[in-house]
Amino acid sequence: MNLKTIDSLKKELVEKRDSLRLIQSQTRKSDIENESELKDVVDRSDAEEAWFTKERMNQHWKLELIRIDNALNRMESGTFGICEDCEEEIPLKRLRVRPDATLCLNCQETNEREASQLLKANQSITLFH
Ligand SMILES: [Zn+2]
Repeated sequence: MNLKTIDSLKKELVEKRDSLRLIQSQTRKSDIENESELKDVVDRSDAEEAWFTKERMNQHWKLELIRIDNALNRMESGTFGICEDCEEEIPLKRLRVRPDATLCLNCQETNEREASQLLKANQSITLFH
């Protein structure tokens, strides 16, 4: 992958990271503002549901941020876009969806197949106990 492509991807990632951080800080601010409101909510399940949704979103953003940071780190170290298993280039299309991908699709699929086989083997062992 040429440097120009990596550079433009990097710019996209940095922008995304900044906007994610902004969203997070805004959510935190609205948390404080909404706290007194929440206490007045009669229907607790509504409040709980809202809280769960927010928590899920928070987790999602956190994960996104970690992924972006990982991708940026890999760009710094020059390993970005290279499969860790077969050392082939990971297609740009895949990197746009998963910038922190460390494996090409082939290796990823092999890994997942092995993992699920391992899981199945583990499960059948547990069944015997
Ligand atoms: Zn590979």
